[in-house]
Amino acid sequence: MADYDNNNIFAKILRGELPSKKVLETEYAFAFHDINPQAPTHVLVIPKGPYVSMDDFTANASAEEIAGLWRAVGDTARTLGLVEGGYRIMANHGHHAHQEVFHLHVHILGGRPLGPMLEGGDVPPDGTWERTS
Ligand code: 5GP
Repeated sequence: MADYDNNNIFAKILRGELPSKKVLETEYAFAFHDINPQAPTHVLVIPKGPYVSMDDFTANASAEEIAGLWRAVGDTARTLGLVEGGYRIMANHGHHAHQEVFHLHVHILGGRPLGPMLEGGDVPPDGTWERTS
């Protein structure tokens, strides 16, 4: 995967160069509403450090940064009132997962029943998958 680009959209949001609807901010993480929500509540939680994706983060971030991000994910969900109804978290890494912004972000989705995990997934009738990489 390519090196971290300091001018990606979420880096600019972190620096305050682009606006965002903030939910929560800590020493290690920043949470804000997704611009194109896929559920009544759709929030992104990002680390403050420059990590391209979950792969980069889990290989190179410090224990404090990793704990700080996940603590912020839980705190954000509680702040949004999603605990009782339930929520889904998701992080896309790379091509197969359709990652579009190359600064790690954890999606938090909730506010309605979310259906099966990969709604619209194209499962072959015999249940087998052809690997493409
Ligand atoms: P990905 O497919 O990389 O996991 O998700 C990228 C997410 O970033 C998408 O859900 C998209 O709507 C969101 N997004 C893209 N640009 C912006 C932006 O400028 N502001 C905010 N708040 N979200 C954005």
